[in-house]
Amino acid sequence: MRIVRTISEMQALSRRWRGAGDPIGFVPTMGYLHEGHLSLVRIARRRASAVVVSIFVNPTQFGPNEDFDSYPRDFERDEALCRREGVRAVFYPDAEEMYPPDYSTWVTEEQLSGPLCGRSRPGHFRGVCTVVTKLFLAVCPDVAVFGQKDAQQALVIQRMVRDLNFPLQVVIGPIVREADGLAMSSRNKHLEAAERRAATAVFKGLQAALEAFRSGERRTDSLVQLVRAPIKASGGRIDYVELVSRERLEPMSPEVTAPALLAAAVFYGKTRLIDNVFLG
Ligand code: AMP
Repeated sequence: MRIVRTISEMQALSRRWRGAGDPIGFVPTMGYLHEGHLSLVRIARRRASAVVVSIFVNPTQFGPNEDFDSYPRDFERDEALCRREGVRAVFYPDAEEMYPPDYSTWVTEEQLSGPLCGRSRPGHFRGVCTVVTKLFLAVCPDVAVFGQKDAQQALVIQRMVRDLNFPLQVVIGPIVREADGLAMSSRNKHLEAAERRAATAVFKGLQAALEAFRSGERRTDSLVQLVRAPIKASGGRIDYVELVSRERLEPMSPEVTAPALLAAAVFYGKTRLIDNVFLG
């Protein structure tokens, strides 16, 4: 397994593999890998003979008061996990490699980036679109795999890939959860024991809403309330709980009428967690 620190080396390697007829699968991450990330690596391996994982905590997608500095990092552990999963290369650039001092070019998606996390994290998706573009141009993948855990990000990337004609296929992998339902996240490491226990309320709420939906409940307010109630009772601070259309992320009210995304962002202490389920 290669550890690649520069864009030029990554591009050369990618050209070589492509020349040898090896399709390239790509899983972009911010590291501190868990089973959610590894599930995406396995999806990529089924579709491509050469899998590249990038590990880059992208400064431009964090707001000024967010957790860029404290974001968990452990490259040695990540490297060992990638090796075990049969990854061919880990692309591990530093911030200067990705953003030279006079860096001044940005990629923005201007529709799907607006609601949900876009509202509470201004500039976040501009950072995401920019870094994913740069990673795509470094790795030149045939297939890129993203997680449903970041549902809005997945939609934004799919739109960007379509709009800018990136010659690659985007695949979305399902959310991997802990035994008690908590969606796996690198940020879970920051939860104190009591917060960790309380945080299961997010999935419990989403699950309650999903069950109510399956039993015929269609009122947006009632479904959202089923998510909010257990989170509030658990001491979580709600950033948002929203029911939006699955394709366009538009609010659905007063009733759910089409396939919908029920998404939540919640703080436990300083840690912001996101999770979601599909309805219909
Ligand atoms: P991150 O390192 O958090 O930026 O995530 C890198 C990729 O892994 C993104 O496409 C995420 O959506 C995906 N991912 C993160 N957590 C999970 C999870 N629990 N299940 C599935 N995919 C995940």
